[in-house]
Amino acid sequence: MIGSVLVTGSNRGIGFELINKFLCRSQPPEKIFATCRNPEGPRSEELRILASKHTNIVLLPLDASNIESVKKAAVEVEKYLNGSGLNLLINNAGVISREKLEKVDADEMIDTFKTNVVGPLQVSQVFYPLLKKSAEENAEKPLGCMKAALVNVSSMLGSIERTPLTFQPENQVISYRVSKAALNMLTRLQAESYKKDGILCTALHPGWVKTELGTERAPLTTHESATGIMDVLGSLSEKQNGLLVSWEGNVIPW
Ligand code: NDP
Repeated sequence: MIGSVLVTGSNRGIGFELINKFLCRSQPPEKIFATCRNPEGPRSEELRILASKHTNIVLLPLDASNIESVKKAAVEVEKYLNGSGLNLLINNAGVISREKLEKVDADEMIDTFKTNVVGPLQVSQVFYPLLKKSAEENAEKPLGCMKAALVNVSSMLGSIERTPLTFQPENQVISYRVSKAALNMLTRLQAESYKKDGILCTALHPGWVKTELGTERAPLTTHESATGIMDVLGSLSEKQNGLLVSWEGNVIPW
């Protein structure tokens, strides 16, 4: 059983559906930290309604690219955990920009990096002590989400090896691809660093999903993607540590 989980960007898209799926488990986590940039805003209404119906949801503000906001959220999470560690951290928040190679500029590169790379980096840094605590509490368990795990929601578009297959001249999303390749590297570095602590670190490709980011053209619904992700989370072990895994559980080459 996963005792506690934190999801960033959980007010809509894949993040919101993951919260729903955690709630539907036969043994839901005792604490589900559903975080988003603006819990009071109009784009968080569905999440607010969900949180009002389930006492195990803790709705908290967390802007992944703002270190002060991340630290504030961690203080709150620690209070709710009451001395226990955090089992699972899902760095889901992300943004996309669609400029082509000829047009992409410094601002777009930096903005995308700030959310997609710096965000997961600093959220992981700040929550690392709580993940470590969970690993210590569950020392007898094998590496995995029941013990302590850090999952970075990445993308196959960040896979360098797959680029000849995934590159579309009309939809180059340069800054997004580069940021997800960097997130993949970050995941590998986290896996190397945190292995000694018993924290599993995996990058996860959720599939091409109908969300604002994925667009209506995407073949998968959030329900299909999140259902697959829940199965994958349950099966993560040492084998997938430091790798990029798809929503169907297949390893994707870097
Ligand atoms: P959505 O556009 O539906 O949702 C993005 C979420 O990220 C929103 O909740 C948004 O919050 C949040 N967010 C953006 N910036 C920040 C920030 N600085 N701090 C906190 N939250 C933030 O996208 P998806 O659900 O599709 O994407 C979720 C993840 O899945 C992303 O990492 C994306 O790259 C990845 N992914 C998605 C694919 C797809 O096809 N949909 C394919 C491959 C990967 P707000 O409402 O405040 O803007």
